[in-house]
Amino acid sequence: MPRQEFFYAPPENFAGGFVELKGDEHHHLTRVLHHKIGDRVTVVDGAGNAAVDGEIVFSDRAVTRIKIHTLTKNLGEPAVHLTLAQAVPKGARFDWLVEKGTEIGVSAFIPLLSEHSEVQPGAGKAERWRRLTLAAMKQSCRSVWPTVNEPTHFVDLVKNLSEFDLALLAHPTASDIARDLAAHAMPRKVLLLVGPEGGFAEEEVTLAQETGCKLLSLGPRRLRAETAGVVAAMKVLEAYGQL
Ligand code: SAH
Repeated sequence: MPRQEFFYAPPENFAGGFVELKGDEHHHLTRVLHHKIGDRVTVVDGAGNAAVDGEIVFSDRAVTRIKIHTLTKNLGEPAVHLTLAQAVPKGARFDWLVEKGTEIGVSAFIPLLSEHSEVQPGAGKAERWRRLTLAAMKQSCRSVWPTVNEPTHFVDLVKNLSEFDLALLAHPTASDIARDLAAHAMPRKVLLLVGPEGGFAEEEVTLAQETGCKLLSLGPRRLRAETAGVVAAMKVLEAYGQL
């Protein structure tokens, strides 16, 4: 059976055994996909809840009401919560990164400001990235809408690692530690740091190691920054059987 179409509604729209779609999601369901009363769809709340096989019971110009038959937790979610902190490359490359990262299973993105960063993201970018992660969440059948945090300075981030069980910095001259990772118990929260095209400054690498980051190799080839972000995320999720 093909996967059901995924829709999004905020948590407050789930109530009393029903969920309501409004705005863009309502429009997409009725006007673009031409769903009818009786059709079955999946609605996720972006916080890990999914009404799977929901039944469309009512629809007018403004709202579609869906009966919840089964409510599932963490549908499509990896057991590892992965935060990808990455310097923002030029042009639309970060757009690509948040989309692909979401498909793979990244749960949060942090635009990273480091010594050799090229781009200081403008204010309008956050909204754009939110929309891209929303679309990618639905398309990849996930139930958690990844967050895109405020741009954060490298130093501020690596000095506050206490919320993470494991922090890894992708570095071209590191050794391959993926197997070592797999030998240990699965961490709950992982931070992954990936540098800009100019790489991390040596002082940044040293500071990261001092604060407890491990260095991770992504192989003998030098990857473009956004490729490195995706490959690093894959590598970590794969190490714990979560890809
Ligand atoms: N000129 C830089 C390379 C930058 S590539 C240098 O020599 O350091 C951009 C970022 O992608 C790097 O900072 C690193 O985090 C990551 N990266 C690219 N290729 C990698 C590899 N083979 N192993 C680990 N990290 C890599």
